[in-house]
Amino acid sequence: MNNTQERIIEILINRGKELLNQPYKEIEFTGNPKADDLLNDIKNFPHAFVLACIMDRQIKAERAWLIPYEISKKIGGFEFQRLIKISQDEFKKIFNRKNLHRFNDTMAGNFYLGIQKIHENYSDDASNIWEGKPRSATVVKRFLEFKGVGVKIATMATNILARDFKIPMSDYICIDISPDTHVKRVFKRLGLISPNAGNYELIYSARELNPEYPGIFDLSCWEIGRNWCKPRKPDCKNCYLHLDCPKKI
Ligand code: SF4
Repeated sequence: MNNTQERIIEILINRGKELLNQPYKEIEFTGNPKADDLLNDIKNFPHAFVLACIMDRQIKAERAWLIPYEISKKIGGFEFQRLIKISQDEFKKIFNRKNLHRFNDTMAGNFYLGIQKIHENYSDDASNIWEGKPRSATVVKRFLEFKGVGVKIATMATNILARDFKIPMSDYICIDISPDTHVKRVFKRLGLISPNAGNYELIYSARELNPEYPGIFDLSCWEIGRNWCKPRKPDCKNCYLHLDCPKKI
């Protein structure tokens, strides 16, 4: 790595830390204010966030993240004690009637099993998954233990908890960069990955560049991608990396 690249990395990491330390702001998961309020209320409804993560498969994320709210409308609320009384068959009926997911029976089953796991392993309180400043690996592993959750969703969930909800963890080693289009485009134009890089090259480059928190690049690269490094006509003269960027456009 040359001096210019080292400088770029340092700037991105410092900006990432700055953004990470900003106070929590409500996250827009779906664009539906009521659904987003429910998902953001991890103090009172931590299970809404966990169950939405479990639903985030094979359909658009916005549709998956709406599911807890759609169910709350159907059953009159989203309190855990209300959910635990509902059978798997009842969930299947709700999913199918409202066509909540592409795979209604399977995902209704995963939804039901998610509730059972929160009941049995976490004493009805999903926030116990991330309570007590756990290691990032512990949080990823706990999400993986839910039926239907793979590595991509488990790391995404852990990333949102650390980055957006500001949940303290004792390390951030297992929080990978998200293979988001903005982030990938900025990494390519900065010459940090090859022009045809896939998601794995991006993930391993971020791990190599900042092993203690590979996901730190999400924040700064997403901001650059959204504000200046647009897919067409990047606004390089206003981008704060202008002087160092090789502009591989
Ligand atoms: S200087 Fe231009 S190409 Fe480089 S990151 Fe900024 S906007 Fe993108």
